Amino acid sequence: MSTPLPPAAALRRIAFLLERAREPTHRVAAFRTAAAVVDALPEGELDRRIRTRTLTDLRGIGPKTGAAIVQAHAGEVPEYLARLEETFAELVPLADDVAEFRSALRGDLHTHSDWSDGGSPIREMAEAAIALGHEYVALTDHSPRLTVANGLTAERLERQLDVVAALNEELAPFRILTGIECDIHLDGRLDQTDELLGRLDVVVASVHSDLRAESAAMTERMLAAVANPHTDVLGHCTGRLLIPREQREGRRQRPRPESAFDAEAIFGACVEHGTAVEINSRPERLDPPLRLLALAVELGCEFAVDTDAHAPGQLDWQANGCERAVETGVDPDRVVNTWPADELLEWTAGAR
Ligand SMILES: [Zn+2]
Ligand SMILES: [Zn+2]
Repeated sequence: MSTPLPPAAALRRIAFLLERAREPTHRVAAFRTAAAVVDALPEGELDRRIRTRTLTDLRGIGPKTGAAIVQAHAGEVPEYLARLEETFAELVPLADDVAEFRSALRGDLHTHSDWSDGGSPIREMAEAAIALGHEYVALTDHSPRLTVANGLTAERLERQLDVVAALNEELAPFRILTGIECDIHLDGRLDQTDELLGRLDVVVASVHSDLRAESAAMTERMLAAVANPHTDVLGHCTGRLLIPREQREGRRQRPRPESAFDAEAIFGACVEHGTAVEINSRPERLDPPLRLLALAVELGCEFAVDTDAHAPGQLDWQANGCERAVETGVDPDRVVNTWPADELLEWTAGAR
């Protein structure tokens, strides 16, 4: 695993690897302590400390841990961590329960190709999914309104459906499920025609704008999308970004906090309308946060463990989501992408 992690998670990962390598306990403890220090910082403080180069003034943070924090904060894999990962690759398989959870997944319901803001053609994404042992992958490129992500107009989506149909003939029994990551408008409507949404196998509905709206407005907006009979999966529900990330055209997005909404109302509506809550595995998202994931479990939601991959290698990120699912007691049978394709499609069709 060498994907970027937020600073505290990167430090814990280093501690974990050192421990598995039977390094002296005081070295392991140094990284755990630094992780706890980072966790305890008030919002914005880490940013300020890094900017003013005063990170190592903090008790519990030294040159080595400090360097790892700075690199992780910049969205990179810390050099030290990268070296450890390489050295101990064979020593640190996934924890058994996480590996078991992951092996129960048959596909991925949220992926992007170069038709929107992904970096690779549909075929390459599909071939990577096949190599991972998936039985299906839903292609969910962005909807028209997301022009920064080259969202697909109705016409382009129609054309994509033909391309997918041709690929499916070639790649059978593997199956590319047709789909969309549909933007949720401010008024809760979905950003594509009803007719097209009705023809797609999988509809992931996500909020991508006005993320700092007041809780009441955001709740109403999300409720409408969750209740929409076309919606199958509620994508990255809080919209948070844990670490900065590069976007197309070199734009850099800064971390941002969770959107505010009435989580109990939203997850309750997901149960009522048969909409799965996405467990987004992207390292900068890891959405929903654990406390909300635990709430969704408690309320009886269904889930989809997705990668939101924008490149073939990212299809391997599902372990991130599985780890969090295991931690919060998600039952694999409640995860819709553990189901065979036919069963899954019956469910998405029934939901509309
Ligand atoms: Zn999205
Ligand atoms: Zn996406």
